[in-house]
Amino acid sequence: MQTYRNFIAGKWVESTSSKTATNINPANTDETLGTIKQATRDEARAAVEAAIEAFPGWRSTPAPARGKIVAKAARLLEEYKEELARILTSEEGKTLAESRGELQRSINVAEFCAGESRRMNGETIPSELPSNFAYTIKQPLGVVACVTPWNFPVAIPVWKIAPALVAGNTVVFKPASLTPATAVRIVEIFEEAGIPPGVLNLVIGSGSEAGDEIIGHPAVKAVSFTGSNEVGIRLYEQVSRRGAKVQCEMGGKNPVVILEDADLDLAVESTAQGAFGSSGQRCTATSRAVVINEIADEFVERIARRAESMRIGDGMDAETEMGPSVDESQFKTVLKYIDIGKEDGATLVCGGTRATGNGLDKGYFVKPTVFDHVTPDMRIAREEVFGPVLSVLRARDFDEAMQIANDTEYGLSSSIFSNDAARIFRFVDEIETGMTHINSPTTGGEAHIPFGGIKGTGIGDREQGSTALDFYTELKVVYVDYTGRKREGNLY
Ligand code: NDP
Repeated sequence: MQTYRNFIAGKWVESTSSKTATNINPANTDETLGTIKQATRDEARAAVEAAIEAFPGWRSTPAPARGKIVAKAARLLEEYKEELARILTSEEGKTLAESRGELQRSINVAEFCAGESRRMNGETIPSELPSNFAYTIKQPLGVVACVTPWNFPVAIPVWKIAPALVAGNTVVFKPASLTPATAVRIVEIFEEAGIPPGVLNLVIGSGSEAGDEIIGHPAVKAVSFTGSNEVGIRLYEQVSRRGAKVQCEMGGKNPVVILEDADLDLAVESTAQGAFGSSGQRCTATSRAVVINEIADEFVERIARRAESMRIGDGMDAETEMGPSVDESQFKTVLKYIDIGKEDGATLVCGGTRATGNGLDKGYFVKPTVFDHVTPDMRIAREEVFGPVLSVLRARDFDEAMQIANDTEYGLSSSIFSNDAARIFRFVDEIETGMTHINSPTTGGEAHIPFGGIKGTGIGDREQGSTALDFYTELKVVYVDYTGRKREGNLY
């Protein structure tokens, strides 16, 4: 059985820590995948120090040469796609099809970032003075920390590490404790791609010790975090207090608005995919369906039928449509929220319990669950469940649907189902989310398109796409006076 090691200054080193944990397959808790030794604060500091030492060399490596290493990593991710997809399914639980999709997204992101290495352009700006002009250059920050969650344990690290490296930063990567195997493989791939020692470092340890040590280190100039609001807001306060840059992508409570003229077959299937895909463990998962009264009964009946038909099981099985919750704690959280929904007076339409039988008893499986007659004040309408639980909220008309959809502290993703152009574009204008979809699920994104949320979901620059490098670079402005004489007049 594998003991996951840290990668510091180009060497794989086993932690000296006596604090250990086991990596367990959530679809079958009898299967232990490996041992985690929780890195100590000293080891976390050593990783930052390695990154400090490697920075001058990496900074002066031309950006296209940095991009070539990232391009090679993209090719290796492609070569090892199937192996990585299987590791991902066995430690996180999502279906193999979902894991392959995540791998493809990671490959696309790495390819896109490699291309960006040849486009690190600034701009040239004419001056108001004669024979003067200014231009801008993008420069790396220094050491950056990438702190990532377990639900996309390949794609999210890649979409942070690749742009950070292309921009010329050195990286300390702190993955989620629940998904160390994928983290190790990602770093091995960058190593095989030729990343110089110290440029990318991996620390496998708890957030509260190793993570805290990394983000609190004065040499860490920026922290890119994806995870829960609870941790993200604390991290933001801690890091911003010392003037370092922070980017936080946090939770969601994503609504789909279904109007009376919607294609109901499409709306039902897309909502089911958004709500139950990846067992609801996506930041962009559909957790609220806001449905116009006159079609609500039919929608509820159809979505419940679809939920009950979902094939639940081990993600390795090609027939499986929905895997388990990631671990016991998440599993209990989902069941707790189902109880809260019932206590608060919502109508449980289907699901609502653990899934058992057919080999499911050894895993953390929850049946796809639909609650009807949920009101905006109920906790299942307000708090992120992160499980296969859909809340249906009924609305009188479009205006009330908009008001309900926006009645949340979060602002990540949303979607609308309708064929009425006027109301679709009003929705696009008024919905308070960083991303929105028309006649498609709330989930998904593309490597070359910016990703992120507003309101309580997102702080800082958007990740991916044309904005991917913004967070990882400083902009320097250069004024050039080529008159060769003392300036006449002043610039204010
Ligand atoms: P957590 O917030 O629990 O953890 C995220 C990361 O932060 C982990 O690596 C964790 O380490 C680390 N961490 C925890 N405490 C600290 C600390 N004090 N200092 C430094 N690092 C720390 O999130 P989850 O892993 O449970 O992920 C699920 C959450 O992620 C959901 O809320 C989901 O919505 C959100 N998410 C948001 C996305 C977006 O783009 N908006 C995308 C994907 C997920 P450890 O694992 O050791 O605790």
